[in-house]
Amino acid sequence: MELYTCLTAQGIAPDAARKMEEYGNAVAEANEKFNLTRILSPEDMAKSHFVDSIDAARKGYFAEAKTVIDIGTGAGFPGVPLAIYLPQVQVTVMDSSEKKTNFIRESCEKLNIPVQVVCGRSEELAREPQYFQKFDIAVARAVARLNVLLELVAPYVKMGGHFLAYKGSSALEEVEEAQSAAEKLGMELVEVVSAGPEDTRHMLAVYRRVKDTPAKLPRKYGKIKKNPL
Ligand code: SAM
Repeated sequence: MELYTCLTAQGIAPDAARKMEEYGNAVAEANEKFNLTRILSPEDMAKSHFVDSIDAARKGYFAEAKTVIDIGTGAGFPGVPLAIYLPQVQVTVMDSSEKKTNFIRESCEKLNIPVQVVCGRSEELAREPQYFQKFDIAVARAVARLNVLLELVAPYVKMGGHFLAYKGSSALEEVEEAQSAAEKLGMELVEVVSAGPEDTRHMLAVYRRVKDTPAKLPRKYGKIKKNPL
């Protein structure tokens, strides 16, 4: 089956499915050079990359969002499918790998997908005035365990805004482990819900900013990793 057919079979509207197919094909093509993803069959790509990425939007989490940042976007997931699915939202994607951000920038320009692409380490860029506590929603998938991930991502979330951590079946355990990190970063757990395509055990851990990020955070990566908050 073609990627387009797999996407429309998953309930995605034709225009969005066509754009996702074009981006998916670009990922598959570039994969031969750059090794961007293991997931390549149209069925798996539809489910594990596109439907998984936009499921939170289908659940209504982006209803009031104007700005979204995806940290550690890799080949553009979940940020690029979100930009396609939510054309009214300004989506920024960030990754520390230049080959990945170059791929996303070139592909999205060519396919007319409106995303801002930033190359850099999230903990190093977090205090830049254009990023610090500036986004309605930050998302991240498959980047780090939650007690580390919170320090990498939470500084981007504005007061009252949300962090959606795309997680697997270990979500509840990770949330427990990250309790103190969330508190120190000014984040409050809202809920942990099932998410993603049917027959997966994907979960979304949802946090909201209730206090400012203290001036000393985030720390350098070595410290974050070695000694989570
Ligand atoms: N989110 C994508 C997905 O779900 O397919 C990619 C996941 S990949 C396993 C993790 C990505 O996070 C890598 O591309 C890596 O370069 C990026 N990354 C890890 N730590 C980062 C950091 N501190 N700042 C920016 N990018 C980071």
